[in-house]
Amino acid sequence: MFRLIRALLDGLLLRCPRCHRGHMFERGFTMHRTCPVCGLEFERAVGEVTGGMAINTVVTLTVITVCSFVFGLTTNVPLLPLLLSLGAFAVLFPIAFYRSSRGMWAGFLYITGDNAEPDHLRQ
Ligand SMILES: [Zn+2]
Repeated sequence: MFRLIRALLDGLLLRCPRCHRGHMFERGFTMHRTCPVCGLEFERAVGEVTGGMAINTVVTLTVITVCSFVFGLTTNVPLLPLLLSLGAFAVLFPIAFYRSSRGMWAGFLYITGDNAEPDHLRQ
């Protein structure tokens, strides 16, 4: 369990889950294919990006759902500003969280060993 939390935390902080030193991203939204320090392959296939997108979607919708219930049911916040705020959050947060969600997915792949298995579809 500690290894999983450590790998996800490394991914959140955009560090390699194996050596904890290599940076996952060059700059912007471009992810290194392998760790520049230890050579761990972060995402083996192009489709692996969907794992990070799933994490991003789940976190975004969880925050929106919790905030909707908390602010919508327990406070006197007017509905329109609340909806506009949550709408802005739904657009901006996934962009800001994009790199960390892909990093967390890379950490999950490392823990499950999916980035170390031979890929029969790869050429
Ligand atoms: Zn590394």
